Amino acid sequence: MSSCIFCAIAAGTAPADEVHRDERFVAFRDINPKAPTHLLVIPVRHVTSIAAADGLDAQERAAMPLFIAEVARRAGLEGSGYRVTTNHGPDSRQAVFHLHWHVLGGTLLSDTM
Ligand code: 5GP
Ligand code: ZN
Repeated sequence: MSSCIFCAIAAGTAPADEVHRDERFVAFRDINPKAPTHLLVIPVRHVTSIAAADGLDAQERAAMPLFIAEVARRAGLEGSGYRVTTNHGPDSRQAVFHLHWHVLGGTLLSDTM
């Protein structure tokens, strides 16, 4: 999708502090981190949110949690722990309409969310 910033990051035409990539997914640092480690994981293929995950193929859907866990492992978060979240729609305050998973860690996270 040409106007989508995360598509541009996936295509390499917009800058990002990338930490891991394979043929299906890209992980990069959030530009406005809300934890000492705050990574975003996106599918290369544009779908707007988890509510549109049927737009991914079966291999992408199966591989997504494995890629997220690998990104967290590479970031050194497996021992201390981490949180994985995704937003859909207005009540969640979703701001970027390309499916992304927030991977948060590096501190004891808030117990309110
Ligand atoms: P949402 O509220 O949609 O789940 O979160 C979008 C996230 O993307 C936010 O945490 C925001 O800081 C991050 N973000 C928005 N634009 C960019 C960008 O151009 N580059 C990077 N690295 N992160 C971005
Ligand atoms: Zn996109």
